[in-house]
Amino acid sequence: MEGGGYSSDEDFEVTRPPVFAKREEEEQVDGPSAKKRAKKTATPLPPASKLLVVEKKKDPHAPLGKLNPLETTDEDKRKSVTETSSVRDDQAFEPPTWYYFPKEEIQVEKRYPRDGRGIIFREVDLAEEFKVRYAGTCYSNLKEIRDEGVDLIKRTILDLVSTESLSSPQNIYEDSPEMILTQDEGLSDEQREQLFTAIFDKGGRVPIIDKPGWSLIIHRAPNSGIIHLCVEMIAMHKGTPVYEASRLCTKADCYKYNQTISTDVFPKCSRHQDIKMHSVVKLTPYNEKNLVIQMHVQFGISTNLGSPESDKNYNAELYASIHMSSSRSWIKYYPIKDARPIPEAISMYHYGTVEEALSRLALESTIGMFMKLALGTTPFVNLDDIIPLCYGMEKELDTRLKELGMHLKMRELSPAERMEVTYPFPGQYLLGTQAEKEQKPEKGKSFLYTITSRDMHYFGWSNTPDFKDRLRRGNRTDGANEYKRITEARAKLDGTRAPTVTSSLLAKCDVTDNTQIEAKMIIAGYVAYLLGLRNPLRKLPSGRGYSTNKCVSLSLVDSDSWSDICQFVKLFWGVEPILAKFDKDRGEMPNFIADSENYSDDKVENSEDEDYNPDEDEHNPEAGSSSSGDHSTDSNSDESD
Ligand SMILES: [Zn+2]
Ligand SMILES: [Zn+2]
Repeated sequence: MEGGGYSSDEDFEVTRPPVFAKREEEEQVDGPSAKKRAKKTATPLPPASKLLVVEKKKDPHAPLGKLNPLETTDEDKRKSVTETSSVRDDQAFEPPTWYYFPKEEIQVEKRYPRDGRGIIFREVDLAEEFKVRYAGTCYSNLKEIRDEGVDLIKRTILDLVSTESLSSPQNIYEDSPEMILTQDEGLSDEQREQLFTAIFDKGGRVPIIDKPGWSLIIHRAPNSGIIHLCVEMIAMHKGTPVYEASRLCTKADCYKYNQTISTDVFPKCSRHQDIKMHSVVKLTPYNEKNLVIQMHVQFGISTNLGSPESDKNYNAELYASIHMSSSRSWIKYYPIKDARPIPEAISMYHYGTVEEALSRLALESTIGMFMKLALGTTPFVNLDDIIPLCYGMEKELDTRLKELGMHLKMRELSPAERMEVTYPFPGQYLLGTQAEKEQKPEKGKSFLYTITSRDMHYFGWSNTPDFKDRLRRGNRTDGANEYKRITEARAKLDGTRAPTVTSSLLAKCDVTDNTQIEAKMIIAGYVAYLLGLRNPLRKLPSGRGYSTNKCVSLSLVDSDSWSDICQFVKLFWGVEPILAKFDKDRGEMPNFIADSENYSDDKVENSEDEDYNPDEDEHNPEAGSSSSGDHSTDSNSDESD
């Protein structure tokens, strides 16, 4: 899984398809594939014969402070045809199909009212605390990219502008150097014109102060013919130093050059790029015939949402395939650089807002999660790692799973069956036992816990069995803390009482197992959300629970994990999730019709507001444990629907 923003500068150094008009591409004198920008000043200078071609005088049609005539527009990026671009143009390629194919068909015999029930379509607007979240909670790719030498580039430019300045006499400059150096608005058109004149006067190239081998140049991009102010720097190509050009960002007072594009008349760095479209792309290796391999990428680019579909797709696929070829899981799966296939988009979605794109990413990658947990007609490789779980799109998810032949249903356990369910993970299950109260932090051990309220559950692990600080304000921004913060703020506004949020110790394990058990518990909690199960620890009736775990790491689970996940749902909720084979010709009744007839949760959902009794709002640890014959609030309240 990749999403949210831009990868680091280093990401872009890996197997870049040459057609993509990023800064390094067409600029190397001796070939398109040199990647490494020199980091050490010790790098020997390339011979002068390898210097890039520079412009010697200004285009007479370019207006004041500009290098290109006014009518110059961003170049059509489809100019050159390469191996990669023909792959992208190959509409005939289709990846192998995948269809759910369980080892045995499971029949659900109807014994209890809920038996055979599937995903509950909630059909309500998701409350803030239940929304899909990704960046900020468990993904931090948005870190600022630090360009090398930016301060020196700025100094050189301001030096050129002020020295060549016609209007400011020398003594004013010397008396008050801040006048220019603190100009946060950047250069005016007049000052930019002075800058260009100064560079042209020196032959189109000016050395950057204190940066040997680096120069400011005015350079025409070979493909697009657009002229830019660039930094000429040294890069290594097959062990040989070469010169390459990076366009400077044209945003006022920005002297960065990362991810500026040669086909833009006014290139912008990653920070100043004007994001107009958010895309989600599903990629697969081109010409893979035996496996279904997929990965999702989400990002924002400067293409207009109103552009023709073909342009949007072209630009998005270009960006996505580059992003994918630099992603960790892609490189891990294809360790040999020269043998890496070209990524090909199999689906693309474009949106005006990042929230819409994130919902799409969550839906697509959650379906990928179920494919990874199930067995299919074709071997499946999911290269997504940490994915955002999909909330509020139960109907879409159900439909898509059924299209793949998967029908998520449930079966209620009888009291006798519940007695027999054992904890499926390594370590010790503590909930409802005497040992639960005796736990202390222990070297080499981790503790698994759940945080619950009348309408949510969250799973995690900790180094301590003591949760007194777990939900302290400002401590963390995970789904459980955010739930508490948001519901408390809302209750304060409404003058109501916020839901009670309780942390409960579940189990102990070796530290080496903590993340894997946690991932399976998170998925169990997610399945419980889809099936509309209720908090089994609460004595009072509860509403259908939402999972507030926002992400899960798919690299920690595979098709063997599903039975463990189901067993944990059985243990905790007393319900067995079933991934039945869905046959669309069988003409099954949609879940929604069957469930909505008796959907009468209002009274239950409001239990804390209406007749709140603090003594009763204690979690009942016994209810969730297998040793209890008590049928728990979950199933009791469900009998009415
Ligand atoms: Zn910038
Ligand atoms: Zn990435």
